[in-house]
Amino acid sequence: MITLALSKGRIFDDTLPLLRAANIEVLDNPDTSRKLILDTNQPGMRVVLVRASDVPTYVENGGADLGITGKDTLIEHGGSGLYQPLDLQIAKCRISVAVRNDFDYERAVKQGSRLRVATKYVAIAREFFAAKGVHVDLIKLYGSMELAPLTGLADAIVDLVSTGNTLKANHLKEVERIMDISSRLVVNQAALKLKQAPIRALIDAFAAAVAERSTS
Ligand code: AMP
Repeated sequence: MITLALSKGRIFDDTLPLLRAANIEVLDNPDTSRKLILDTNQPGMRVVLVRASDVPTYVENGGADLGITGKDTLIEHGGSGLYQPLDLQIAKCRISVAVRNDFDYERAVKQGSRLRVATKYVAIAREFFAAKGVHVDLIKLYGSMELAPLTGLADAIVDLVSTGNTLKANHLKEVERIMDISSRLVVNQAALKLKQAPIRALIDAFAAAVAERSTS
């Protein structure tokens, strides 16, 4: 049995066409079913639904053989025990610094002000501001980051941005782009040895689907 860990939402939706390219159809719809283990049309393959930030933990510890997770999550997690064979080029976005529309970020940085930065991505934010030589107090949040500058909790946030609509709707502006993000396939290293043939076949099918998409 091969177990693939996915998170609901963008990553799950963007993974379905890749699975289809490998002749795998997920038989349950996570939007209407409460099941956490989803069967596929292949008796030897199943999908487990976990929180996005738990995907690396499941795969690293053998709760799943493979998983798909964002580069943001992998960096925060560490990801050192995981084999990362493929950038799937899905769930693309960027991780950026954003502030209130009326906050003069350039000036604050130039003046060497100490910035209060709210984020779920503490490791990424710490490294980014350290490299810039900006002193920051990091405030760890688990969601609704956009609220932090509006309520006075923080001067800035570090968050994922896709269209920019969420920032705009909350009177925030993107002031720095830290890095581009996409989702990667991660593989448990022991599973790769023990179940080499089916896992290699899946990696190859995904790689072919990604290559085909980038040329079409
Ligand atoms: P947008 O309004 O399109 O810029 O999307 C921003 C919101 O969606 C923020 O709350 C982000 O945390 C979230 N978001 C954007 N892209 C992704 C992604 N690839 N994976 C997970 N969350 C995302």
